[in-house]
Amino acid sequence: MKKAWFYFLLFVFINQCLTGEVLAQARPHGDRVRYVFYFIGDGMGLAQINAAEVYQAALQGKIGIDSLNLSRLPSLGLVTTYAQNRYITGSAAAGTAMATGQKTSINTIGMNADRTLPLKSIAWKVKQMGMKVGIITTVSINHATPAAFYAHRPDRNDYYEIALQLAESNFDLFGYGGIKDSRGKKGDQPDAYEIARSKGYQIVKGREDFMKLKKTDNKIIAINARLDPEDAAVPVAIDRTPEDMSLAEFVSKSIELLDNPKGFFMMVEGGQIDWACHNNDIATTLGEVLDFDQAVGIALDFAKKHPNETLIIVTADHETGGLSIGTALKHYESDFSLIKHQKMSQPALAEVFKEFKQRHCPANCSFESVWPLIQEKTGLGKEIPINDFDLSQMQMAFRASMLGHNTFASSDANYLLFGGNDPLAVMVTRIIAQKAGFGWTSWSHTGIPVPIRAKGPGQQLFEGYIDNKDIPILILKAMGLSLVLN
Ligand SMILES: [Zn+2]
Repeated sequence: MKKAWFYFLLFVFINQCLTGEVLAQARPHGDRVRYVFYFIGDGMGLAQINAAEVYQAALQGKIGIDSLNLSRLPSLGLVTTYAQNRYITGSAAAGTAMATGQKTSINTIGMNADRTLPLKSIAWKVKQMGMKVGIITTVSINHATPAAFYAHRPDRNDYYEIALQLAESNFDLFGYGGIKDSRGKKGDQPDAYEIARSKGYQIVKGREDFMKLKKTDNKIIAINARLDPEDAAVPVAIDRTPEDMSLAEFVSKSIELLDNPKGFFMMVEGGQIDWACHNNDIATTLGEVLDFDQAVGIALDFAKKHPNETLIIVTADHETGGLSIGTALKHYESDFSLIKHQKMSQPALAEVFKEFKQRHCPANCSFESVWPLIQEKTGLGKEIPINDFDLSQMQMAFRASMLGHNTFASSDANYLLFGGNDPLAVMVTRIIAQKAGFGWTSWSHTGIPVPIRAKGPGQQLFEGYIDNKDIPILILKAMGLSLVLN
């Protein structure tokens, strides 16, 4: 009997020690969290992360995973993403929840659901405390996710008005992508870059000038040398040239510029993971996830030097595309390494096919004459063996692209097949995904919860099943700050 009591008391003692330990870690340590990295992979669900891991393993001839940097963050949770008025969210509503701690309606930026009140973001709060703020994205800096951290607009498509609010924000660094609609939708407004300049921002373009900036430079808008003329987005990793910076390179220099005794808050968005998933373009998706993950690696290196002061969060606003590892036609088979043979993104392929069409159609418009181009750019029919079914699918898509011959009379059926994109470019990227063993179920976002990873003081706060609006509040808690944002 005595023995039983002894073991019972020992159990209670150990249990209390463990619980105490967990609580101690959950509380901010003596050193305050001074450096916050908030990484948001737009559209990056668990499947997108895992796809990059299995792909990297397959490239080394292994079955299994080759862990990403972000998978090295010790704490793991799941995040529900729904908006106030729709289960399957969009980047504006999700970004607003993740920036302000409040759910809102679809397409609303930094305002409450009925669009009557502006909401304060965590970036404003830490800026008021004297921390420096950097807003970094691969898409335009006035796009939905970054905008949620500094703007208040009833509609995410108000790009010009959002850019004007950016200029008023006083945040320390914006960049990588540029300003979309910088002269307004019709191109008849005063240049938003010039307005930002008049508010004290210096605007630098390209690697050389960006790398020349010093800590003493503040209020910076730094953009990649090449940007998409319509979207002001950085080229996706698969389409980059040596002239283009990587996201990791941009983040690395940004750390140098923002570092100061009061600390910094950096939001880093991998914005085109989402776009590639909207296109069901697996090769481009993997390139974007890996590019994003390299930037996470830069933050992890920084955290090694400031372990008790650095909090790194990596999560997503929602999943896009309904990606799966495994697909109907392949049953249980996969050969993920095949993805490496696709040499350009689906939009770049669509551009190649558009040029072909202009030169050859309708007079000399034959599948046989475009086939060598497909082989060269995608590996289909070369490194990636194809069968008669694949060929007939590509010929059907070719007729739709080049001659406007849709296979089905129903617009729903055509949308299901091609999602409104160039049919031939969609078809070749879909066949590559199928051959490798990846499947897609949507051209839009999905409602499945997304993972959240955390490393640093308070990392345990992000474990378990949480909601997107809780994230900024939990970051404040980890920083030992008041939990009130709005
Ligand atoms: Zn999207």
